[in-house]
Amino acid sequence: MGKTEFKAESKRLLDLMINSIYSQKEVFLRELISNASDAIDKIYYKTLTDDNLSFNQEDYYIKVDPNKDKRTLTITDTGIGMTKEELEKNLGTIAKSGSLSFKSENEIKDGHDIIGQFGVGFYAAFMVADNVTVISKTLGSDEAYKWESQGSDGYTIEPTDKSTVGTEIILTIKENTEDESYDEFLDENRLQNIIKKYSDFIRYPIKMDVTEQ
Ligand code: ADP
Ligand code: MG
Repeated sequence: MGKTEFKAESKRLLDLMINSIYSQKEVFLRELISNASDAIDKIYYKTLTDDNLSFNQEDYYIKVDPNKDKRTLTITDTGIGMTKEELEKNLGTIAKSGSLSFKSENEIKDGHDIIGQFGVGFYAAFMVADNVTVISKTLGSDEAYKWESQGSDGYTIEPTDKSTVGTEIILTIKENTEDESYDEFLDENRLQNIIKKYSDFIRYPIKMDVTEQ
C-alpha cells in the first residue's frame, strides 16, 4: 500500500522533532500519557450520557510496557479509540491545539524551551522512535486499524485485529548513537521516574509490569 504524505505543517513539526537537539526527549511520554488520559475522559463522558454504558473505574487505565529484546515501548489505553478517519485526521495533521500554529519559525529556532512549555503532542514520539505504530479500535465499532509511520515521509493505514476498545502505541526506540542515548527509554526505573515527574496528576492508573530483581 502506498504512503500518504503528512500535511505540510505537520511535516515541518515532524522534521523539527526528529532533528531536535533538545535534551528533554523524555517529554514524549508525558504527551502520550496525556493523550491516553484524554481518550479515557472521552469514553467516561460517553458513559455519563448513554444509559446503555457504564463506567467501571477498574476497566480504565494506561499501561506502559518496555521490551528491551524487541526494543519497543508500548503505551496502551482503554480510552475511546479512533476510527480510520480519526487516525487520518488526528495523526496525519497537527491538531488544532498543537503548538506550531501560534509560533513563528524564528521563535522555534531560538525557543529551546518550547517543548517544555507547550504540549507538542503525538509527534513527540518521533524524538525517540524511528517507527511508530498506532493500533486502535473505537467504541461501538468492530473494526480496528493500524497506523504506521517511520517519520516525515508519511504514513500507512490498514485494517487489523484488536479485541478491545482503545489504543495501543508501539514505539520502536532508536538505536544509541555516539551523541545520544535512547536505551534509557526501555529502562523500567527510568520510565517510572519520567512518569512521576510529568504524569503524577493523571487521574487514571498508570500500570507497568516490573521485573523482579
Ligand atoms: P492534542 O492532544 O493537543 O489534541 P496531539 O498531537 O497530542 O494533540 O493528539 C492529536 C489528536 O490525536 C488528539 O486530539 C486525539 O484526537 C488523537 N489521539 C492521540 N492519541 C490518542 C489516543 N491514545 N486515543 C485516542 N485519540 C488519540
Ligand atoms: Mg496531546
